[in-house]
Amino acid sequence: MRATIIHGPGDIRVENVPEPKIVAPTDAVIRTVATCVCGSDLWSYRGINPVTEPQPIGHEYVGIVEETGSDVSTVRPGQFVIGSFIASDNTCPICRAGYHTSCRHRDFPNGCQAEYVRIPLADGTLVATQEQPAEELMPNLLTLSDVMGTGWYAARAAEVKPGSTAVVVGDGAVGLSGVIAAKELGAEHIIAMSRHESRQKLALEFGATDIVTERGEEGVARVKELTNGLGADSVLECVGTKESMHQALQSTRPGGNVGFVGMPHDVQIDGQQLFFSHVGLRGGPAPVRAYLPDLIERVFSGRINPGKVFDLTLSLDEVAEGYKAMDERRAIKALLRP
Ligand SMILES: [Zn+2]
Repeated sequence: MRATIIHGPGDIRVENVPEPKIVAPTDAVIRTVATCVCGSDLWSYRGINPVTEPQPIGHEYVGIVEETGSDVSTVRPGQFVIGSFIASDNTCPICRAGYHTSCRHRDFPNGCQAEYVRIPLADGTLVATQEQPAEELMPNLLTLSDVMGTGWYAARAAEVKPGSTAVVVGDGAVGLSGVIAAKELGAEHIIAMSRHESRQKLALEFGATDIVTERGEEGVARVKELTNGLGADSVLECVGTKESMHQALQSTRPGGNVGFVGMPHDVQIDGQQLFFSHVGLRGGPAPVRAYLPDLIERVFSGRINPGKVFDLTLSLDEVAEGYKAMDERRAIKALLRP
């Protein structure tokens, strides 16, 4: 089968590799229908996360179950499924508490930018749709595998409530999904921080009420202006840099909350400053599996259209161009058709 292999910074290739097989009785093998490039894949592409040997890449997928191990009972061959980027059993105490990405038995599907993928813990990880989804729903459903679920977790972690004010730091696919989540959870004012016109447009379409183009201290000052000098109730930090985290913490009112889902790189938090700010902080890899049934329902009913974050569709053979376009910020997110 064809699969995407990263050889080093900026070096993405499609190669022929053996098809994955069932290894454990709890595995499933799926044939991917669509997959995509994640902002976090760019950490390896840019050489920030070192790549020491050629390795398969990609962790977002929707597909058709091809084969299941002998212990798998909740999905069967032929079904259309969506799964989380981290495999979980969905039964341990941590999963039951809603934190599937810290499942006691978690495992990592990898190499999803390929024609076939082995998914560990299939019963706990995959959710089958009731029917075969229409073609136009495919991009929407694919976002539930990571970015939309991650934006949802950011909003939940930031405790967005009906009538509240939310700020979204970051205008990538996760930030834009965070705007959708804040709106669905009832935020009345949603301030999106973005400098890019096409992304601002999408943020407004998704429910943002204000756009702030300033960054750093100026960005914080602008948020304060828009929130009676107080700061926002909820801030969704969807970038993961020192600057974005600082901006998020400073933009939150005392007693408000920051949900952080951008993978932190070089972020340091001053304990005393946090103590006196009275700001709550929660984040981590999003337990997207916890939200799948609800979000699938919202997609099928037409309430949300997160698939609009895909502004580039390529065949799997063109995957290198997808990475390049996202790296150069010519594209928000690239969808790949195997
Ligand atoms: Zn678990």
